[in-house]
Amino acid sequence: MSLPQSLVRSLDKIPGFDKEAFEKVHASGEQITSVRLNPKKMFNVQSSIFDAPLEKVPWNNYGYYLPVRPSFITDPLIHAGAYYVQEASSMFLEEALKQTVDLSQPIKILDLCAAPGGKSTLIQSIISDSSLLVSNEVIKTRASILSENITKWGTTNVVVTNNDPKDFQRLESYFDVIVVDAPCSGSGLFRKDPEAITEWSEQNVQLCHQRQQRILADILPALKEGGVLIYSTCSYSKEEDEEICDWLVNDCHLASVKYFLHPDWNIIETISELHKAYGYRFYPDKLKGEGFFIAAFKKSDMGETERRINKPRNKTEKISEKEVEILKPLLKNPQDFSFIKLKEEVLAIPAQFADELAILQSALYIKKAGVKLGSIIRDQLIPDHELALSTIIAADIPTLAVDKETALQYLRREEIKLESTEKGWVLLTYQQLPIGWVKILPNRVNNYYPKEWRILHK
Ligand code: SAM
Repeated sequence: MSLPQSLVRSLDKIPGFDKEAFEKVHASGEQITSVRLNPKKMFNVQSSIFDAPLEKVPWNNYGYYLPVRPSFITDPLIHAGAYYVQEASSMFLEEALKQTVDLSQPIKILDLCAAPGGKSTLIQSIISDSSLLVSNEVIKTRASILSENITKWGTTNVVVTNNDPKDFQRLESYFDVIVVDAPCSGSGLFRKDPEAITEWSEQNVQLCHQRQQRILADILPALKEGGVLIYSTCSYSKEEDEEICDWLVNDCHLASVKYFLHPDWNIIETISELHKAYGYRFYPDKLKGEGFFIAAFKKSDMGETERRINKPRNKTEKISEKEVEILKPLLKNPQDFSFIKLKEEVLAIPAQFADELAILQSALYIKKAGVKLGSIIRDQLIPDHELALSTIIAADIPTLAVDKETALQYLRREEIKLESTEKGWVLLTYQQLPIGWVKILPNRVNNYYPKEWRILHK
């Protein structure tokens, strides 16, 4: 693997850069696989990939390294949302948030560049139930993948949006925390994806730098005074890292935040040239992870922030008492939810966020909110896949445990045969985790796995 020499030369004076070790680790072809477990779903799971005691990712509570890369696509647990395959360095976001934000408090947090959902699923695992995550992706097709991964993760206090960063200016001073995991030139992933080397150019680094500034300038008005901005890239170029930090301090008047780093982590602290902003570099020759950069900032608190958003009229349809009675038995704690009807579909939103949803709806394009329970047709609920994978589903819903082969047939949306005395809607489970609905009829089983999610791999 031959690295772009202009990149290598440009890193020459950057703290922590060791040319020989850097080139050697890229030439080695070593691949590192890491996963992050879903704390709300990992009860009693014993999958073959987690059989052996695993090495922990040092800066994340739920992150583990796998000794070999298994076939994730044929593990039903990944489709059940039990874990997410995530590059280890980027799991540092957990530590970055813990050190800058009081996560026990209710916060509103925006993940601006969120697809496919690595950072958003991490955030969902560490914020409190009384906090709200808005997970946004500007590219429509990528917003669908994001929605799918958020659905699999199963928590309710999240809204997925599909907006340009500029659209968030309608939500002035709204968020306590904004995470910008910016689109970048991607040099940090060269070891994982050597093809990316051919797409790298100095000119693209410049274009990325300009785009990063534009995204940040567009989104900063939506951050509360005293709020926290976390900025990250998977690029080694200082134009996309320390120079952006300098610009955030100088032009946007943010205050840089210093992190405490455990010396064993081997993460390198850098200080930007002009305005002495702290940044944190992850080099693959120094730690078990790919190239990554992260920095945190605080917006100054002038003591004059009052949210200037009037509560808009709720545009959603009210649901009848009769319909509420149909829905209640589906949920563990129905009293904690507001039910919202969109045409025939019913959503469950944590009650405390009903007003927030109206505000978000007035400003943004909402792709997904809370958990879609299903459609009520002639007083019967046709349950939705989102309900099956959610962590709010009642414990006494009829379930049927299946083995791996049957689970995979189901996930391929093939015809399946089941031995069961149950009839009607039944939740299939694999190693105690729901994977989706079937309807058991007297002479056949209907497979309700979403068509667009079915696995094509044989
Ligand atoms: N945070 C994601 C995760 O952890 O899974 C990865 C995000 S990726 C580094 C950057 C994302 O920014 C991509 O999904 C990309 O579509 C999006 N993006 C591209 N151009 C953008 C723009 N102009 N404004 C906002 N987001 C953009």
